Amino acid sequence: MARLQIDAVTKRFGATDAVREVSLDIADGEFMVLLGPSGCGKSTLLRLIAGLETPTSGRVLLDGRDITGSAPQQRDLAMVFQSYALYPHLTVERNIAFPLRARRRSRAEIAERVAEVAAALELTPLLRRRPAALSGGQRQRVALARAMVRDPGAFLMDEPLSNLDAKLRSATRAELIALHRRLGATFLYVTHDQVEAMTMATRIALFEDGRLAQVGPPEELYDRPRSTFVAGFLGAPPMNLLSATVTERDGRLRVVAEGLDGALGIAGAHGDVAVTVGVRPERLRVVAERGALRGRVTMVENLGSEELLHVDLGGQSVCARVARPAAVRPGDAVELDAAPADLHLFDPDSGLRLS
Ligand code: ATP
Repeated sequence: MARLQIDAVTKRFGATDAVREVSLDIADGEFMVLLGPSGCGKSTLLRLIAGLETPTSGRVLLDGRDITGSAPQQRDLAMVFQSYALYPHLTVERNIAFPLRARRRSRAEIAERVAEVAAALELTPLLRRRPAALSGGQRQRVALARAMVRDPGAFLMDEPLSNLDAKLRSATRAELIALHRRLGATFLYVTHDQVEAMTMATRIALFEDGRLAQVGPPEELYDRPRSTFVAGFLGAPPMNLLSATVTERDGRLRVVAEGLDGALGIAGAHGDVAVTVGVRPERLRVVAERGALRGRVTMVENLGSEELLHVDLGGQSVCARVARPAAVRPGDAVELDAAPADLHLFDPDSGLRLS
């Protein structure tokens, strides 16, 4: 069992508020990803949970027990770092056994447990090697094995895949998902990589400048972002954000933007207010007849299976992700359309979602 509760935690370093009044309830068995740009406070929060930092205010609870003041080794948590922090002079076997030796477990118990964990992570053939003779992915698995060997209630991981190349990263992502399923343990995982967050998390906690911008399942953050920050952080390329006005024309509410030769029909909005309209690149379609948005193609990026069309709409630019070949070239006039249900409206001042 490992339920983690972060209760109004703040961490100040001199004049920097790294974490500001963050409250987060992580259920037993969750795969929670702490996501956000560099410097937003996600590593600090993880370190506060691990006991490597002490909060300026607030509490950390593990299964209802206040552990705010407990030493790291007294917490039933295992931390896996980006650098793996393996002992270079020890074999893989000794590295994995280290936490059990430190706790003076019996030789038989250590041997049994190391064999079990090594088998689970397919490290058995590598037990006699030293870290220098391993690939990045293998080292990463040894670091995980060392964390697993104690059978902790929760795993805390800080960017554990960032040293791997793209192919290995994707394979290790799949391994971590399977491992989480098999162990049923609580995973708390820090990354700035939205693909890792989208593919692995049961819930994402997205940070903005020390605060939580939104917490929820990946689809919820993607489909109903609470703010322009969330909308812009998830998705590659990110959601298009356009300055516009919601107005009534011909008895219908429409979103119109200055300089746009077209309008996007929308239901259930308010009349004549300034808004920021969001639309995901993959929700824009190129249409043959008159579309809602008319513009000129400025650039075409070939992604292999699809193309990214960069379109200037008379001052504002959007990106559309379309099937290949789109049969348009830079300089061509193009008509784009989107379904009203695919439009997101935000308050232009606060950036918060309106509908
Ligand atoms: P990254 O992805 O770059 O690691 P992060 O989101 O994990 O970023 P943190 O490492 O938590 O961010 O840092 C949050 C803020 O706190 C930053 O402004 C950072 O400079 C500051 N900070 C972190 N640790 C310390 C420290 N020990 N002393 C002073 N400032 C710190």
